[in-house]
Amino acid sequence: MGGLALALALQHRSIKCVVYERDADASTRKAGYGLTMQQGGRALDALGVSEAVRAAATPTDRHVSIDANTGAELGVHGERSAAARRGHGARAKAAATHLPRGTLRDVLLERLRPDTVRWGAKLESASPSEDGWSLTVDSVTESCSVLVGADGVRSTARRLLCAEDAAAAPLGVFVVLGFCAAPFEYAADCFEAVDGTVRIYTMPFDSTRTMWQLSWRGDGPTGGDGEALREAALAHVSAWPGCPDAHRLIESTLPGEVTGYPIVDRDLPGPLPARSTLLGDAAHPMAPFKAQGANQALLDAVSLARCLVKTDLAPGPARRSVHEALAEYWAEMAPRASAKVAASRNAARLLHSPAALVRAEGLTRAAAAAGVTCHPYTLKHRNPYDVHVYYDDEESRARAMELRDRMQVKFPWMRFHRPFGRPIGPHPIPMWEADFASYENRDRWDEVRAWLESEAGGLSVLIHPHSTDSDYADHTTNAHWVGEALELRIEGWER
Ligand SMILES: Cc1cc2nc3c(=O)[nH]c(=O)nc-3n(C[C@H](O)[C@H](O)[C@H](O)COP(=O)(O)OP(=O)(O)OC[C@H]3O[C@@H](n4cnc5c(N)ncnc54)[C@H](O)[C@@H]3O)c2cc1C
Repeated sequence: MGGLALALALQHRSIKCVVYERDADASTRKAGYGLTMQQGGRALDALGVSEAVRAAATPTDRHVSIDANTGAELGVHGERSAAARRGHGARAKAAATHLPRGTLRDVLLERLRPDTVRWGAKLESASPSEDGWSLTVDSVTESCSVLVGADGVRSTARRLLCAEDAAAAPLGVFVVLGFCAAPFEYAADCFEAVDGTVRIYTMPFDSTRTMWQLSWRGDGPTGGDGEALREAALAHVSAWPGCPDAHRLIESTLPGEVTGYPIVDRDLPGPLPARSTLLGDAAHPMAPFKAQGANQALLDAVSLARCLVKTDLAPGPARRSVHEALAEYWAEMAPRASAKVAASRNAARLLHSPAALVRAEGLTRAAAAAGVTCHPYTLKHRNPYDVHVYYDDEESRARAMELRDRMQVKFPWMRFHRPFGRPIGPHPIPMWEADFASYENRDRWDEVRAWLESEAGGLSVLIHPHSTDSDYADHTTNAHWVGEALELRIEGWER
């Protein structure tokens, strides 16, 4: 998917590109699971496909969570419009948009020039050549000036490009998913039931079917046999007095519509060879519990195409080298995607732990769960978090100062430091800083994050912990960005 999005973004910029795809043709795969579009919506706008996606998508505006043991409501996020609840069809502004993965792929494919995708073309080997790469694709030698590995979670490109690379790591959670048309009270919503180790999540797949995704801590059947996966899934929900619907949905799903696998993720690799890069799952596969993988792959694609625009790959005068463009892409993508890998890993842990049974008061379930325990790092016993709000001109400075005034009223327990009108330390542009003052305030992280996400109005904001991992980790994998992530000046820091 990221590869097709990149091809379309490059096509818009008149940069030549070929996508080598190992599938024999577009019909080789089924529609796949359902995707929830979030930040990737920005990329869809940039690709000019938002309208087509909206037309094919199913919106939801409510997310309901219950305790599978008791049936008690744990949280409701968003609300369906009164008219829709009365069955009048009108819905409130959609909070989330869902569509089958295959539909998004088709929307992208339809817009690509006919010879862009070479089907049945499996990348087998790659070696650097004088002006790029020599590839073996389905036993045929091909060449290219830049190689972009966009070949998913089991990326061959990444294996070929990164000699020393950590393998994808299992997260100890198994997922089984399927589709069925059984009647279901929450068919128009996102729905979730949790029991402390097992979770079911459902959402509309298309106009008639619900997609369910059951996940649990531990192993599952191997070999991909739909019947065995369905049996394992049923066994995990058979003792759920508070949510008999889970058993009913799974039981009414045909074995051929059931898939399952252990969840893995992987941190970004170290430096890549010249004239090569990675995007999407090839670079940063992540657990599906924040619904971010495809969203990040789409953002990567648009970001990479933008960076390549003023190089000699594009028409017009070249203003920067391909090397600089790829470095710029990586600097934008790495902190953005790493934060999502970490957050998804955290959600995988929390949503299958007793923390998931905590009632969410005005928060999403993942946020509520995250609030009870803490993050995948250990905080030092000192000021737990710093907040940095960046600005680079008079206009953004005025907005940053106005935000500071409001934040001082909203969070009087925080410490506010004087603004710095120039780059300082790791901070590449002017900023003001606030911190959490004392270790006792550590559980207020989510409250501050949620407020900044709603109020920062496009400013770049960095929230980073003071953990025992390292300063470098705290400013990269442990950091949370609101708005656009900036490239921090941390190259020389110990990793
Ligand atoms: C159950 C589940 C639910 C998910 N839900 C969401 C969600 O709601 N929202 C979201 O944003 N993300 C979601 N994701 C994640 C998302 O699907 C992936 O992150 C996304 O598809 C990654 O896109 P990609 O382009 O990197 O890789 P892919 O979409 O996997 O594409 C890789 C392509 O490379 C091809 N390929 C592989 N090897 C080779 C080779 N050697 N030569 C040539 N071609 C090759 C493959 O055939 C494939 O077409 C979910 C994932 C799962 C498992």
